Amino acid sequence: MKLSEISATLREIGVSPVKTLGQNFLHDQNLARWIVEQAELTPRDYVVEIGPGLGALTELALAKGARVLALEKDTRLANFLCDRFRHPRLEVRNADALDFDVRTLFSQGRVKLMGNLPYNISSPLLLKFLDYPSPMSLSLFTLQKEVASRLSALPSSRDYGALTLRVQLYHRVEYLRTIPATVFVPRPDVDSALVRMSPRDPLELPERDDALFMKLVRRGFSQRRKQLQKLLRAHVPDWERAAAKLGFDPKARAEELSLNQWIGLANEIAPLTVPERRTGQEERFPVVDEMDRILRYAYRSKVHGDNLRHRAVHTLIFNDIGEIYLQKRSRRKDRHPLLWDSSAAGHVCAGEGYDEAAQRELQEELGINVPLEKVLTVSASIRTGQEFIWLYRGHFQGNPRPNRSEIEAGAFFTPAVVNGWIAARPGDFAPGFMECWEAYRQKKHA
Ligand code: SAM
Repeated sequence: MKLSEISATLREIGVSPVKTLGQNFLHDQNLARWIVEQAELTPRDYVVEIGPGLGALTELALAKGARVLALEKDTRLANFLCDRFRHPRLEVRNADALDFDVRTLFSQGRVKLMGNLPYNISSPLLLKFLDYPSPMSLSLFTLQKEVASRLSALPSSRDYGALTLRVQLYHRVEYLRTIPATVFVPRPDVDSALVRMSPRDPLELPERDDALFMKLVRRGFSQRRKQLQKLLRAHVPDWERAAAKLGFDPKARAEELSLNQWIGLANEIAPLTVPERRTGQEERFPVVDEMDRILRYAYRSKVHGDNLRHRAVHTLIFNDIGEIYLQKRSRRKDRHPLLWDSSAAGHVCAGEGYDEAAQRELQEELGINVPLEKVLTVSASIRTGQEFIWLYRGHFQGNPRPNRSEIEAGAFFTPAVVNGWIAARPGDFAPGFMECWEAYRQKKHA
């Protein structure tokens, strides 16, 4: 919309822009087109737009063939948008984006996030939508210039800080251009900038304990002018050695350490521990016949290498509201690394029964111990990797503490989201889980 149209429309629908909702509307149509171009939209994309306002970006995203979910807090603007577009590919939701359940987006195909964000809540919004695990394949935001500079900052710059590191841990951030205040009506007090964020390949950075990483970063930047050793000495006993190993000056301040050096520091304090059973002698599994009768025992590599029939357990953990906990398998797994899987899963070892193995895996992987009920069995086949699987279910309310040497991430999802996710992106899942989930659904509906 042109400037005059915006003013007339706002008058017509009785809206006088509210500062606390960051209501500054984009009137430069060339710029709006350029912004939407940066999202490289296709008809395969599902766009989530935060704060569509009068639809400056919405209209252009629809023109690219994408489906659009527009989250608008102001009821008058949400109603106006519905009337203005009445489009089969547009869903307008009159909602606060801060209350939106991001996990539901896993059931969409390729999700792209877009918005000229309300300034006063831009940081909480970003963190809510981009925190790991996030379903976004790309995010494009207009933000206050100062926040955009912090997000995209490089080490040893004024803008580099805790927010930079928190976002850059999982996303590559590009500062695309500065946007002058004059392109908005009413004109905001400060300039803006457009940033584009794309998720990093998980293997780009070393494994680490994210909670510890953020704790160190926050402490390190709590007093920017102080030398880091004064703030972190209690956590890193041999500071000089750590600095030499990671290649930074022992007198460095927080802003001088790169993302990789911060990760290195977290790993100096809490090195990743590999479970004993993986470091010790190779595990032995029972090799079974087509009736699941034990024939003999063989080492893991032989069982997998020769495709021999063997035994496995999968457990589905549900919370009070019927959501299921899924884990993203560790990058270290020799089979199906970084794919989503049952709450806990693993092999039955020599000398162990199915029930015992299920309890052990649950304890080792999620640190929980709850009664398990056997639900069904799945026969060995090519689809299960020649595993006979016994599937269990259990109940747990709270946040499991996944063992990070086995699990990259985990979260509860509604069964409806899981079904939609499998349909939209089957490649995200380990095949054993898909077999179990399908059998579980059939049994439930039988
Ligand atoms: N996208 C439009 C444009 O570029 O012209 C409007 C952008 S304006 C900067 C921000 C929009 O976000 C406003 O429409 C405002 O009502 C909406 N908004 C503010 N807080 C919101 C929230 N918590 N959830 C959803 N929308 C919000």
